[in-house]
Order: sequence, then C-alpha cells, then structure tokens
Amino acid sequence: MSFCVTYQDIILASQRLNNKAILTPVFTSRTANKLVDAQLYFKCENYQHVGAFKFRGAYNAIANLSETQRRAGVLTYSSGNHAQAIAYASQLHNIRALIVMPEDAPKIKIAATKGYGAEIHFYDRYSQDREVIAQQLAKEQGLTIIPPFDYPDVIAGQGTCAKELIEEVGVVDYLIVPLGGGGLLAGSLIAAKSLLPAVKVIGVEPQLGNDGQQSLRKGEVVSISAPKTIADGAATTHLGMHNFPIIQSLVEDIVTVSDDDLVLMMRFFAERMKMIVEPTGCLAAAAVMKKVVSVEHKKVGIIISGGNIDLKQFASWVG
Ligand SMILES: *Cc1c(COP(=O)(O)O)cnc(C)c1O
Repeated sequence: MSFCVTYQDIILASQRLNNKAILTPVFTSRTANKLVDAQLYFKCENYQHVGAFKFRGAYNAIANLSETQRRAGVLTYSSGNHAQAIAYASQLHNIRALIVMPEDAPKIKIAATKGYGAEIHFYDRYSQDREVIAQQLAKEQGLTIIPPFDYPDVIAGQGTCAKELIEEVGVVDYLIVPLGGGGLLAGSLIAAKSLLPAVKVIGVEPQLGNDGQQSLRKGEVVSISAPKTIADGAATTHLGMHNFPIIQSLVEDIVTVSDDDLVLMMRFFAERMKMIVEPTGCLAAAAVMKKVVSVEHKKVGIIISGGNIDLKQFASWVG
C-alpha cells in the first residue's frame, strides 16, 4: 500500500525539526502503572513550543515550501493550537503569516497569535464561510494555505513525535494517540508501523465527536455536525482525505472517552504528575486509565498532545 506520506518524509521532517522543535520528555508514573498493571510512557507534547505537537507539522510544512512561496507568506484558518503553531513557525522563518479567525475568538488566542507576529483577518462565523474567505485571501495575496491536518507535510511533521517516543523507549506493544482530523494519528501510524511493524496503534476521540470511529466502521469518511465536547482540539467534523486512507489501513481501532473521563485525567495529571494538560491532550491517557483499551502487562506509548487551557477553566475542572 502506498500513501501520501512515507517514513522517509518523517525522517526528513525530523531533520528539519532538529534543534528547532523541543525534544519533549517522556514521563512515567508508578501510580498510573499500578492502576492498569502495565508500563506506560507518556510523551509530553504539552511542553512543545506553543504548548502542543502542532508546532511540528507547521514548522515542517513551512520549511518545505519553495523560496517563492515563503517570500509571499502563509495563511491558515484554524483558530486553535495550529494557528499559534503557524504564527510561531512563520516568525522563526521570518515570513508573513495571516490567520483567519472568527471575530468572537477568545481574546487570549488573539493575543497569543499577535504575540508571535502574525496578522489576523477577522470574519463573522455566523454569516461567512472561513474556507471561502481563506481561498479568496490566499489567491489575492499569493499566500500558501497550510491547513491543520489534511496536508502531507503537516502529517509528516506530526509523525516525528511517535518516532522520537519509540527511539527513546524502544519496543512498545501499543501506541495510543488522540484523534481530531487525523494529522497526528496518520503521522504516528506511518512512523510507528515503519519502526515496529507489530505495534498496535489506537486512536482516541471524544465520545460526542466520534466521526473517526464511524468512518472506520463504515469504510468511508463520515461527517458529523460540530460536536459539543470540552476536547476542543478534537472537535473536528470529519477526517482529512489524505489522513483517512492511512488510518483505515494501519490503525488497530478507534475508541472514545467521555468528557467526564477527560476531567478525571486532567486531575490525575495535575495531582500526581504535576502537569497541566488540556482536555484534548488527555484523550489517549484517559482511554488507558479508563481501561477502554486493555493493556495489562504491556508496554504502552501514550501521546499527551497539548497543554493550552484557560487557567480559570482549568481551576474549575480540577478544583
Ligand atoms: C489538533 C490537536 C489534536 C488533534 O490532532 P489532529 O491532527 O487534528 O488529529 C489533539 N490534541 C491537541 C492538543 C491538538 O491541538
């Protein structure tokens, strides 16, 4: 089977990210191990630049543009962690970044994006379609659109995280990965299955946003309406067209966890491991700790995907 991303692309992405991305730590917890009777290895992308793995894909995509494309600049229409990743990666490359954001986006996100030197184009999300606006702006201004997950260089960049994890801890039986649009999962699958053909890779979605699970069962991309979940980074409505074939062929299964499970997991990370993890970042760990996937006596890699969260909100959940 040949896919739009190969392991060679992930090796190249690793080389581009060398000394640019943070080689994030892998933590263990005896308490967590005891609770599920397994050896768990948490890859902590909450300590990545901009607080999420998204820096990897964004930086790799920009680094791989032509000189002409870079000179004109890039555009994206995601307002989540990808926006900050594009803004910061553009700053590092000294290029222009334009971020299309709803005018009622959280002030903290607007400030963070501007802080990295990006320009913001506001739109009214009740009357305007962000993708139409993005296409129009990109065309008028010669900008290259870098979408959050449905883009080979983004997938390859995200794959470097699983590669690092496996290179650090060696053979694992399972790799558990949060799933939104599928950039992280598709990249992780290519990396993990190339290094360890026998590894079982499992994607984890919020219960209310299980479009990926439905797609896997149906054998085609299923779209759902915008899910209501505290896992905002995985509140996507459908998998990407580049991502789905990779996921469909290589994933062991896609499982779900509830928002309540995510809150319990956030509390565990804060109390036991002294870490702030955003709800989406808790998806993979919650599936293991809740025993949605049973991993008894196994060695398990778990990706903690991000740590960006409003502190008041965090306090109300863990308090
Ligand atoms: C974007 C994001 C995800 C989901 O990644 P996809 O590549 O869209 O599947 C998971 N966790 C965090 C923290 C994110 O920002």
